[in-house]
Amino acid sequence: MPKILVADEAGACYGVNRALQMVRDATRDARGPIHTLGPLIHNPSVVGELESRGVGVVASAADAPGGTLVLRTHGVTPEEEDAARASHDEVLDATCPFVIRAHNAAERLAREGYQVLILGEEGHPEVEGTLGHAPQALIVGGPEDLEGVRLARRVGLVVQTTQSRSRLRALVGALIGRVDELRVVDTICEATTLRQASAAKLAAQADAMVVVGGRMSANTRRLVQICEASCPRTHHIEGASELEAPWFDGAELIGVTAGASTPQSQIDEVVERIGELVGEG
Ligand code: SF4
Repeated sequence: MPKILVADEAGACYGVNRALQMVRDATRDARGPIHTLGPLIHNPSVVGELESRGVGVVASAADAPGGTLVLRTHGVTPEEEDAARASHDEVLDATCPFVIRAHNAAERLAREGYQVLILGEEGHPEVEGTLGHAPQALIVGGPEDLEGVRLARRVGLVVQTTQSRSRLRALVGALIGRVDELRVVDTICEATTLRQASAAKLAAQADAMVVVGGRMSANTRRLVQICEASCPRTHHIEGASELEAPWFDGAELIGVTAGASTPQSQIDEVVERIGELVGEG
């Protein structure tokens, strides 16, 4: 029978647990409707569970004026926050404190006259929120995006919290020699780093890996890339129902890891289902 191991560091992080607690408290205490501005976290089943408790999702503050509006874990732009405060009775800021740190760093660098670069995924809500704090900033996905870019003499770099340190190192390496002054604020969050290191360690030994988390979740997709690098039989799922028995044919060690927005209960379900599929159940 294959062994099933869960990575030492996997699943819901401080910022996600904090946000969920805030919203659950609000469902108990708030008067009037509660909405989140964009999905609270990138986990469809958790968002679905909140919806069943009456917490709706809106794309903009204007879509549901009045009541309580919750600012998502990934953060919002200052304009979005102003619009939320102007149109709602109460605004709950569930932005992860580590994301706020990146916002503040970008704002400070811009104020101090640096050309701000954000290492991150263009279009990701967190990156858009950070961009809102330093509107002239340039978003780069890696060293390849620097080709043909005119850089200022003083460059300040902040990082999407879920990026890997290897990507940050590669970008810093590409910037050295092209600018006179480079200021790096490493805003990668420790939960991300620990989950990535733990996933890499397990994937190096596993015959098959399962990564649990939302398809829109940047940190989950990064875990998938990291696992694929040493374990080609890596599968990304959002829930236990997607698991398929042939994925584990001949495997002696099956590894499981999960993104920072995946609750422990979902990890447990996945482990149980794998056990059933490989005949342990
Ligand atoms: Fe906050 Fe890090 Fe969790 Fe993102 S992964 S919500 S930055 S603790």
